[in-house]
Amino acid sequence: MLPHRFQYHRPDNLEQVFELLDRYGDDVAPYAGGTELLLALKARVLRYEHLVDLKRVPGLKGVCESDGQIVIGALSSHFSLATDPIVKRLVPAYAALSDNIANIRVRVSGTIGGNLCFAEPHADPPAMLAALGASLTLRGRDGQRRVAMADFIEGEFTTVRGPAEVLTEVRIPAPAASARYAYCSFGHLERPAVGIAAGYCPERGTPHYRIWAGAIAGRPAQLRSVEDALEGVPPDKLGDVLAEAASAAAQELPAHDDLQGSADYKRHLAAVLTRRAVEQAAGLQPRRKAA
Ligand SMILES: Cc1cc2nc3c(=O)[nH]c(=O)nc-3n(C[C@H](O)[C@H](O)[C@H](O)COP(=O)(O)OP(=O)(O)OC[C@H]3O[C@@H](n4cnc5c(N)ncnc54)[C@H](O)[C@@H]3O)c2cc1C
Repeated sequence: MLPHRFQYHRPDNLEQVFELLDRYGDDVAPYAGGTELLLALKARVLRYEHLVDLKRVPGLKGVCESDGQIVIGALSSHFSLATDPIVKRLVPAYAALSDNIANIRVRVSGTIGGNLCFAEPHADPPAMLAALGASLTLRGRDGQRRVAMADFIEGEFTTVRGPAEVLTEVRIPAPAASARYAYCSFGHLERPAVGIAAGYCPERGTPHYRIWAGAIAGRPAQLRSVEDALEGVPPDKLGDVLAEAASAAAQELPAHDDLQGSADYKRHLAAVLTRRAVEQAAGLQPRRKAA
């Protein structure tokens, strides 16, 4: 199907973007890689009279280090993040995750900002960015605000971004040298049915763990009961504590039946992937490429 007719705008700076978003209100959407937006317009699930292409706006792409943070421009493609030297050095698990998103065509065009703003629940980045303690910068005419990744997605296809705001960057605190992260996902379709992000973050000899589940519900969920059960447990003692805590936490996840599988199947996956992700982060298992 063809989309309804729309007018395509190519502003050169953020001021012009804000002016267009303001002028057209509910009839306008920002446009980044278009991998979600164009499909939705063609299927006539969404309809906008105006699209504002962000690609000419300077300063929205690329990665740099600043004040102990990794700053990622919202228009950076998944492919660019999979191959970026800063991301590979400081958060290799995020580079690996980016390398496993979709197919090469989507990775090259699709952006991290589009992924987060669309808030399609079967997505990889949100849980991992929440585990990494990332924050997002939203800019509008009246200034900018920072929102923790953990608070950005409210539910399926819903975020706290205002209609006239643009996501400009994602900031990840550079992990301590002793910290390690891992992400394990599985899905039989193109997108993940379940994805689990885990961090092993020892501080002054005491192990701490961060664990987030993604894709299984409308927004990423922190597995606090597993984190608490593993608090202070060294990697070589994880064994049964991890298996029991992961199974119990998975049963509580708000999964539902959909094309990706039944709720029971997804909870089973969540338990298995939680064990794998934590063991990988703790250095007990070699990293394997996710399905
Ligand atoms: C076949 C296929 C397979 C996929 N598989 C996976 C997968 O395995 N894992 C996964 O995580 N994802 C997957 N995806 C989703 C993919 O990651 C996203 O399509 C992509 O990242 C979206 O980015 P985009 O730049 O194309 O967004 P667009 O389509 O341009 O925009 C998406 C939405 O975000 C808004 N938007 C975009 N950028 C901004 C911004 N900077 N500020 C404010 N609003 C903005 C747009 O208005 C629109 O509502 C898949 C997609 C497809 C089509």
